[in-house]
Amino acid sequence: MTEEIKLSRRLLQVASYLPKGAIFADIGSDHAYLPCYVCKQDPSARAIAGEVNKGPLASAKETIHTYQLSDVIDARLGDGLSVLQQDEVKQLVIAGMGGALIRSILENGKDKLGSVNLIIAQPNVDERNVRSWYLDNGYIIEDEAILEENGHIYEIIVGKKVEDTYSLSEQQLLFGPILLTKRNALFNKKWNSERNKLVRIINQMKNAKEKDTVKIGQFEEQLKWIEEVLRNGSNDN
Ligand code: SAM
Repeated sequence: MTEEIKLSRRLLQVASYLPKGAIFADIGSDHAYLPCYVCKQDPSARAIAGEVNKGPLASAKETIHTYQLSDVIDARLGDGLSVLQQDEVKQLVIAGMGGALIRSILENGKDKLGSVNLIIAQPNVDERNVRSWYLDNGYIIEDEAILEENGHIYEIIVGKKVEDTYSLSEQQLLFGPILLTKRNALFNKKWNSERNKLVRIINQMKNAKEKDTVKIGQFEEQLKWIEEVLRNGSNDN
C-alpha cells in the first residue's frame, strides 16, 4: 500500500488556505507533494503542477503516478505561469522561492490571472516584493502567517482579488499588515535577527572607502522602523 503523503508544516499551512473543490496551479511544484496531498484529501480538487526544470518535473510526475492522481493533476514543463491556459485555474500557489522571483512570475504571467481570485505565496525572503505586487494588482492581503521550521522562519501571504483599491504604508509592506497587528513572539524573533543583520550591514557600509550614503540612509530608516516595532513588544502574553 502507498504511504500517506506527509507534508511539511510549512506546506500544510499553505494548503490550508485552498478552498474545498480548488482548481489551482502550484508553480515551482518540485515533487508535487502539495497538489498530491490536496487532491488526495479532496477528491473534488484539480491541479496543475508547473515546473521550469526537468528534474523536478520528473519527480512531480513520479509522485503523481505513485498516488494514482494522473486524472486530477497535470504536471507541465515551463517558466512560471506560461504553463497555464487562459482562465484555467482559480487559485494559485507559489511557494519556496524568493520574493523577487515570485513577483516576477506574477508580473510576467499577468495575462493568465484573469480567473485567479486567490494567490497563496510563501516567499523564503524579500516578502515585501509580494505584498507590493498584490497592492499594485488588485489583490488585498487576506491573511498572513509566520512559522518556523528547521531553523528558518517562513511567511505565507494570501492575496484575494478585490474590485476596490486600497493602500499600505511602507511599514505594512515590510512587516506585513496582519503580522504587524498580531506581532507574535516568532515575528519578534525574526525582526530581532533582521535588526542585527542590518546593524552589521550599515556598519560595513559606513566603513567602506566609497560610501553609498543614499543606501545607508534607507537602511537606517528601516532600522528605525524595526526598533520601533520591537520596542512595542509581543502581543503573545
Ligand atoms: N514549491 C515547493 C516547496 O515550497 O517546497 C518547491 C520549492 S523549490 C525550493 C523551488 C522550485 O521552483 C524548484 O523546483 C524550481 O525548479 C522551481 N522554479 C524556479 N523558478 C521557476 C519558474 N520560473 N517557473 C516554474 N518553476 C520554477
